[in-house]
Amino acid sequence: MEYADLVAVYEALDSTSKRLEKTEILAELLRKTPAAEMERVVLLLEGRVYPAGDDRELGVAKQLMQRAIATASGMSPSKVESEWKKTGDLGEVAENFAKKKRQQTLSQQELSVKKVFDNLQKLAGMEGQGSVERKMQLLSELLISASPKEARYITRTTLQQLRIGLGAGTMRDAIALAFFEKEITDIASKKEIQEIVQEGYDLSNDFALVAAAAKKGRKGLAEIELRISIPIKVMLAIKAETVEAALEKTGKPAEAEFKFDGFRVQIHKDGDIVNVFTRRLDNVTQQFPEIVHHTREFVKAKSCILDAEAVGINPKTKKYVAFQDISQRIKRKYDIARLAKELPVEVNVFDCLSYNKKSYVKEPFKKRRAVIEKIIPSKKGKILPARRIVSSDPGEIEDFFKLAKQSGTEGLVIKNREAPYKPGARVGHMIKYKRTLENLDLVIVGAEWGEGKRSEWMSSFTVACRDGKKYVELGKVGTGIKEKEKEGLSFKELTEMLTPLVTKDKGKEVELKPKVIVEVAYEEIQKSQTYSSKYALRFPRVLRLRDDKSLSDVSSIHLVEQIYQEQR
Ligand code: AMP
Repeated sequence: MEYADLVAVYEALDSTSKRLEKTEILAELLRKTPAAEMERVVLLLEGRVYPAGDDRELGVAKQLMQRAIATASGMSPSKVESEWKKTGDLGEVAENFAKKKRQQTLSQQELSVKKVFDNLQKLAGMEGQGSVERKMQLLSELLISASPKEARYITRTTLQQLRIGLGAGTMRDAIALAFFEKEITDIASKKEIQEIVQEGYDLSNDFALVAAAAKKGRKGLAEIELRISIPIKVMLAIKAETVEAALEKTGKPAEAEFKFDGFRVQIHKDGDIVNVFTRRLDNVTQQFPEIVHHTREFVKAKSCILDAEAVGINPKTKKYVAFQDISQRIKRKYDIARLAKELPVEVNVFDCLSYNKKSYVKEPFKKRRAVIEKIIPSKKGKILPARRIVSSDPGEIEDFFKLAKQSGTEGLVIKNREAPYKPGARVGHMIKYKRTLENLDLVIVGAEWGEGKRSEWMSSFTVACRDGKKYVELGKVGTGIKEKEKEGLSFKELTEMLTPLVTKDKGKEVELKPKVIVEVAYEEIQKSQTYSSKYALRFPRVLRLRDDKSLSDVSSIHLVEQIYQEQR
């Protein structure tokens, strides 16, 4: 297939915002794509050359791309830079330069999808001496033979900024339409087909593979299996305000588990090979040698895929530490062994998607939990099944919630015992229950002017609580305030209220006389060195103006301390 055919589809997709039209354009392309080209075409449509979960990066920064454009077009790098500054889009710069060059050179070789795909794939993993030159060569080779439009999309794909507005839902529907058009006769049959395509995607997380399978019909899709060492999307939770509301969604009895405050890990074990992925499917195996160790050492399965929460643990006190204390480990590339000792994690396993090569995603949760009981021994501080109770009684679950809080976790996740695992979906099979913390009434003592289209308004506000006669800062907040006046407390309204209160103008930042009081909600109170109260709010958001309150009603530092203690 010629790359030009694919570019025509990019352009057509870009020219419409209607999902149905996009679906039809895509379906037509998929139908005429030969099986051997399917992977390349689908991945390039998604703006990538390796499937999700494959960590290989093309490693082409803006500067290198600029040099390649300069070489291919015969322009100076500084000219490329100045054009980029004008448009902010190197794809457009490459296109414009290719247009100019076109007028000078006549002979043009057609670019194939395979050539573009292969050259881009070769970029990944090139490191060390001479790699920049080789990358330049691969890229300029493509750009020299590219038409202006092709140059645009090659550039964008290389920089991983394809931006053609193609969502997973559209891709799924297009695959369904492309290969099962005859079977789709009404809404019900359409839905059914879309669901089986979705199932294939849930298990593989790879539309290239799904499209190739769908070309072989239902049988092809039915053959898609979970693959050990290839991560899939995780099932997501919804929220409930009360235990009763949660039970209404899950049915009774439900399983209530501690909600650990760490980060999600998907652990793939295949004999001695262990891979650890984050919720965003990044491979973090290198960063967490202790997870690899515990899985190899203690998990009683030849192969399995586990869903778990890794929680930081203080090696001396054996107590849980807050997520932000261990978050540095996720991206860390050095000092790994030392950090694994100083800030180790405990793995709390709460789901099992595959066990000894059998997929469990369609099995009810109680069966998956039974596998966990069988293969995960309780090794406190290392790896263990998530702590849980099974109950139909809201009172009992409330008591378990209190225990969860006392144990230093965030609350509970309440689960439907009959439900299958739904990758990537925010369905009601998993319901988080954290008692919400009391809102605070805080006074605004500072602000920052906004940028760009918000430059007329103050956009970030420093809020403070009362400490005797003083006010001590708890953080900055901009969330919750509206762009449009009719939607609630707006930036404009707040700016007008605060401007006369400026006591000190420090350029972008201003100090304000304490007067305006707002009610602020937040996820958590943390200790902090940044603010004068020595506390900070996590994810604060303004709920409303409290012009009915006076300065003596502003929440006190004692209340902040008390909530901090309670939540621990
Ligand atoms: P949230 O991030 O607030 O939407 O809460 C959902 C997250 O809680 C999940 O993605 C997990 O990372 C985490 N979590 C902690 N403990 C559990 C548990 N027992 N079951 C499921 N998720 C849990």
